[in-house]
Amino acid sequence: MEELKSMFSKIGKNITKTSADIIKNTKLNIELSSQEEKLKNIYLEVGKKVYEIYSYGGSIGKFFDEKYLEMLEVEKEINLIKHKIEQNKTLSSPIPEKKETLEIDEEPKIKICSYCYEKNNINNNFCIKCGRML
Ligand SMILES: [Zn+2]
Repeated sequence: MEELKSMFSKIGKNITKTSADIIKNTKLNIELSSQEEKLKNIYLEVGKKVYEIYSYGGSIGKFFDEKYLEMLEVEKEINLIKHKIEQNKTLSSPIPEKKETLEIDEEPKIKICSYCYEKNNINNNFCIKCGRML
């Protein structure tokens, strides 16, 4: 009985120890990612400065020359995508309405000739292409 108790308390201690470690590590991980985020932002600031230098016609070396061209390509792509999104926004609403009126207007007005498959006006008695009776 005593053995069992001590075993349980041991397990309990181990669990609390590991969960404390987990909490410590979680804190460290948060600290780590916030520091990494800071570094990323500094990279970003440096990059933006380089971009500015180039947009004013400057140059600071071959590596950056190429990176600036890459940035311009990406910018072009971004603008294209933005343009497409805008187009989709303006197009998406009127299309279904148009389709409905098209279906209602067009279908009953057509009579297809059973000989030559020409589309004829619903009021025609004879095919406009082959002259046979519709
Ligand atoms: Zn016909």
